[in-house]
Amino acid sequence: MSLIVQKYGGTSVGSVERIEAVAARIARGHIDGNQLVVVVSAMSGETNRLLGLAADISDQADLREKDVLLSTGEQVTMALLCIALHKRGISAVSYTGRQVPILTDSSYSKARIQEIDGSRIRADLACKKVVVVAGFQGVDPDDNITTLGRGGSDTTAVALAASLNADECQIYTDVDGVYTTDPRVVNDARRLDKITFEEMLEMASQGSKILQIRSVEFAGKYNVPLRVLSSFEEGPGTLISLEENDNMEKPLISGIAFNKDEAKLTIRGIPDQPGVAYKVLGAISEANIEIDVIVQNVAKDNSASITFTVNKTDLSEAETLLQQIAVDLGALEVDSDKHIAKVSIVGVGMRSHAGVAAIMFEALSNEGINIQLITTSEIKITVVIDEKYLELAVRSLHAAFNMAVDTVPLE
Ligand code: ADP
Ligand code: ASP
Ligand code: MG
Repeated sequence: MSLIVQKYGGTSVGSVERIEAVAARIARGHIDGNQLVVVVSAMSGETNRLLGLAADISDQADLREKDVLLSTGEQVTMALLCIALHKRGISAVSYTGRQVPILTDSSYSKARIQEIDGSRIRADLACKKVVVVAGFQGVDPDDNITTLGRGGSDTTAVALAASLNADECQIYTDVDGVYTTDPRVVNDARRLDKITFEEMLEMASQGSKILQIRSVEFAGKYNVPLRVLSSFEEGPGTLISLEENDNMEKPLISGIAFNKDEAKLTIRGIPDQPGVAYKVLGAISEANIEIDVIVQNVAKDNSASITFTVNKTDLSEAETLLQQIAVDLGALEVDSDKHIAKVSIVGVGMRSHAGVAAIMFEALSNEGINIQLITTSEIKITVVIDEKYLELAVRSLHAAFNMAVDTVPLE
């Protein structure tokens, strides 16, 4: 008998018909003798609808109340799914995050899971019940409802799987696995049979929204076997695990991730001396603004410039701070650009191969795409480009690394 945690995302439970289809799938798994814990998202569009209601009243809605509001989306789904399971003669019970309980810190809208008490779930499983848990939510030490950030149901599922020591955590979604890149952008993208935690973490942190970053961190840390599958069709999906690919399939690049969520800021004409980078970037970080790519350049006249990227939602606050810093440092100018995109190629194969960057830059140059910033890690190369070339860049890189269906990956 296996203990499996399954998570169904918004599209998979997007209508009453879809919820019934999911119930039928769960019923089959239950009848096969598995112990099932099912994590559900809000029905597709619901979280955005709720955010819209709050925004109609105020653009400064209290974060605690927003979390109370958003947590209702998942609560609707969990009850409807149990009703559909009962109709099929399956004994099932639903719990909110607070009822489990899933304990988090108190950072509303981006709370982190600290502890899960699995005893109630274990008792239900022992009585042959299917346990349905609302994703994306928890409760803080003062009994306030919290949410885990967009896409947070993935993290609920993996954290539950880790805490219950499940045999596998299955993420059911609207694509049949993790692809070489978003199949909605590149239509000959290829489904991967396997990908390592390390690669998946880079993919997720560079913008591939198929899994929330924190869920991959959890899975890697607690070595939870994680599989991404379709709730619409049968298939093996993609296994995310510790091992690197075997020799049969060792591509140079495993995937391409991208995002348009960031904006670029530059401060020019600052002194090239110790402490200046700290003054600029320290002040931004102190305001709790996350900085991503950073590049510093020194001109012949010994004046320096620093360029960095932040999330678009933090741009205006970061720009105001940077203007103040510019006055303090006697800088020449500050400018910003929100029409940028970030494209990253990811693969453990990069470790043992030189020349990957050259292939990437050549492909972009062939399309006349200018690279504004470059940053690398051991298994990733990221470039920042003009957002209008994003899709062209992703497609040309996908072709340059022979990643499409029916092509042999570059070794
Ligand atoms: P859910 O609602 O089930 O959580 P998401 O919308 O969060 O689903 O994630 C699934 C989507 O992720 C897919 O529809 C696809 O467009 C997108 N996606 C982005 N990158 C990839 C990738 N590399 N492989 C597969 N899907 C990807
Ligand atoms: N409903 C939440 C969202 O839309 C959480 C999730 O679906 O994972 O972000
Ligand atoms: Mg998701």
